Amino acid sequence: MQNNTRNYHRFKIAYGCCIIDSRQVLSIFDLLINIKYGVKRMNHLNQELFSTRNFKVTPMMKQYLDIKEKYKDAILLFRLGDFYEAFFDDALTVSKVLNIVLTKRQDAPMAGIPYHALENYLKKLVDSGFKVAICEQMEDPALAKGIVKREVTRVVTPGTLIEDELLTTESNYMMSLYASENDIQCILTDTSTGEVIVKKLDNVNEIADFIQTHKISQIICPEDFYNDILSVARSFGIFVDKLDEWYYTNEEQTIKEAYGVVSIEHFELGKAAKPLSATIKYLNYTLNKNAKLKFPKILEESIYMNLDSATVENLSLIPGDKGKNLYDVLNRTKTPMGSRLLKWVILHPLKDKNEIEKRLWYVEAFFEDTLLTNEIREYLDGIYDIERIINRLEYDSAKPKDLISLKNTLEVLQPIRDALSTNEKLLPIADSIPNVDDLRLKIENTLYQEIEGELGEGKIIRHGVSKELDEYRELLYHANEKLKNFEEKEKHKTGIQKLKVSFNNVFGYYIEIPKGQAKLAPESYTRIQTLVNAERFTTAELKDFEQKILAAKEKVDILEKMIFKNLCDEIKQYTQELRKLAELISWIDVYSNFAYVSRLYNYVKPEISDEEFKVLRGRHPVVERFVEEFVPNDIYMDSTLRMFILTGPNMSGKSTYIRQVGLIALMTQIGCFVPADFAKIPIFDRIFTRMGARDDISTGKSTFLTEMNEVALILAKATKNSLVLLDEVGRGTSTFDGISIAWAMSEYIYNEIKCKTIFATHFTELTELSEGYNGIKNLTVDVKETTDGVIFLHKVIEGVADRSYGIEVAAIAGLPESIIERAKEILNIIVEKSDIEKKVGILKEGQMKKIKSTRKSIPEGQMKLF
Ligand code: ADP
Repeated sequence: MQNNTRNYHRFKIAYGCCIIDSRQVLSIFDLLINIKYGVKRMNHLNQELFSTRNFKVTPMMKQYLDIKEKYKDAILLFRLGDFYEAFFDDALTVSKVLNIVLTKRQDAPMAGIPYHALENYLKKLVDSGFKVAICEQMEDPALAKGIVKREVTRVVTPGTLIEDELLTTESNYMMSLYASENDIQCILTDTSTGEVIVKKLDNVNEIADFIQTHKISQIICPEDFYNDILSVARSFGIFVDKLDEWYYTNEEQTIKEAYGVVSIEHFELGKAAKPLSATIKYLNYTLNKNAKLKFPKILEESIYMNLDSATVENLSLIPGDKGKNLYDVLNRTKTPMGSRLLKWVILHPLKDKNEIEKRLWYVEAFFEDTLLTNEIREYLDGIYDIERIINRLEYDSAKPKDLISLKNTLEVLQPIRDALSTNEKLLPIADSIPNVDDLRLKIENTLYQEIEGELGEGKIIRHGVSKELDEYRELLYHANEKLKNFEEKEKHKTGIQKLKVSFNNVFGYYIEIPKGQAKLAPESYTRIQTLVNAERFTTAELKDFEQKILAAKEKVDILEKMIFKNLCDEIKQYTQELRKLAELISWIDVYSNFAYVSRLYNYVKPEISDEEFKVLRGRHPVVERFVEEFVPNDIYMDSTLRMFILTGPNMSGKSTYIRQVGLIALMTQIGCFVPADFAKIPIFDRIFTRMGARDDISTGKSTFLTEMNEVALILAKATKNSLVLLDEVGRGTSTFDGISIAWAMSEYIYNEIKCKTIFATHFTELTELSEGYNGIKNLTVDVKETTDGVIFLHKVIEGVADRSYGIEVAAIAGLPESIIERAKEILNIIVEKSDIEKKVGILKEGQMKKIKSTRKSIPEGQMKLF
């Protein structure tokens, strides 16, 4: 082949213009496979372009092609000496994404990554949505007979990361989907912690919803479901892998083997067994090891409140595009495990009274014992992310520093246990902390506390652990000393002061002499390499040293790695206890965090009631952190008084109030204290919100259609025990339609659903609903008019807003004065309308004329400014 790269580009260009299905287009890799197997899969190719037929497939290239054939959909990084090389299409991708030089080997495009920088580059590739197969050398090239044995040891995908360097402290979920007759079975797995969540979804819309509330970085699904998933996944930029039928067969056996159990009945997986089996098989394939997972946690609707993405967004529960959120306010946790659990807790409020009360009980215990809380939080500072360390141990990828972190964590267990035992309410937690002191001692007695260098260099295992290792280390130490003496001796003998003894991988130990003095080298020196400025030599004595040193080095390497592995294997016997411990620590962190934040921000323990919803001087937990003085407000609702129509000017605090009501209810159900002086809260089965304008760009729905979709969901799913919070429903259409829809909807919610509802609206007409129904009341936000303009008091009172103060708000917003004055003029004319005309929103003919006749021209400068 004359110029493979050029031909490759020509080939791409030639076929780039006739791509129908990208899978029909043969890549340069396919061409080479054709040559290798002598197959002519080229009927639709331009023969003239196919000069790759001259490409000579060397044995190493054949090895590469064999492996690549099995990992066609991944970028294959092929270990060659100190580099991971990518070839052909992969090389083009890698060089483009990583911005590294594209070279050639036998005219084939090639790009290399230095082995020590693999993790950095890998992160970039995976973050860019690529699947990467890492092919390692399975034997020492120096000892290999013929071609070095190579195998793929790991396929890295965004949703199957266990490497600490590639992860943040947040959860990283892979979603496994399987469509059954009436629903979609969904499994979320965080490979880095082993967490498995099972959830049933009703339709594809719910998938999108679930993606928005959980950090999903990858989806796997069967081939026949792929097209349905693709557009959802694309709109969120999520990597999808479609799997063949095999992944979804023999599911019971797969799960039994993965968990080492004889029956999976008690998992109560039902149809979710299939996507779980696919997850297990997929992890086995990508990690090249058996998947290690925690027992599946079923997200049952009877236990957890279902939060849709609109509510998560409207109440700003977790960090998103909108900045300030509940999680950030509540998160003062001390450990990564605690912060992950906190996010989980916020997104999965409880519906079970006993469970909520149990959490509140522990939070109260910490809350009342400030000294203890502070002490515990200090201990928690010394705790590492052992949830992930345990997982790395399970996958045999733990490093010495992981074990030291584990040991340091175990060291603070006793102080935590002792401290908790001083409080009777916290005794159950103290008692359930497992005793793994022998494990701590084992690590402490085996490893040096300070980790220096790499495993195998002889600096990790303590002196005294292995006599054999100590002897070889001694030998190595002395050999190094002898080498130094040898250098001194040679300097003296030759009189060359600049002579030095060094080492490299190619020549081993050598003597280097600067070029100018090289002629002084004695005859016993054998020249092995000539550089620009120096000559390199060896001698019989040096060779002898080298052999001794290399032998000792190899022994140290083998022994140290073996002792470390044995230690890891011993720790693995404790996996169950350690996982339990990690979970317990996460809860201690979350409970003490709630107590800490509750004291810091003056929260109060809520009472759980059957019907009554009573909050005195409640506050919005997020807004109150960012305004100078927050005005607290009350709420009272019960089974009779269950709907409020809230009217008031813009910017007066309506949205803040209804969100505050939702957040106080939610905080109760996650087991946290609430921002109020007093709170009595019924357990809501769900909190529904419809707020603001949300264009659904991903599906091309208009604001009004999105709004109506959300309302439809509420009307279909809300029950008597739900909390419904509506902000401005019906604004996306004409006033007339809007009022009608809002009125009919309110009636339906009140009469049929009977749930507790607050409806903030601009349509003052809706306040008339209270006249027909006892359980509907009107609320408004107090405003004070002064000579300098209006002051929003942010106080919610009973009543109806008499004016919208829109012009005043426009003035505050900085509209030009002339426009404000003109608007006031027009308003005065309009308010002369009769009541009925006001409702219908039409002006008398005379009024329009009057408005027109009073028009003055606006000075040009002001218009530009505007
Ligand atoms: P509306 O929904 O009526 O347009 P918002 O609820 O968005 O008004 O409130 C507007 C701003 O007023 C908020 O961003 C906040 O700064 C302030 N605000 C609202 N409620 C209160 C309150 N209770 N105490 C103090 N400031 C408040």
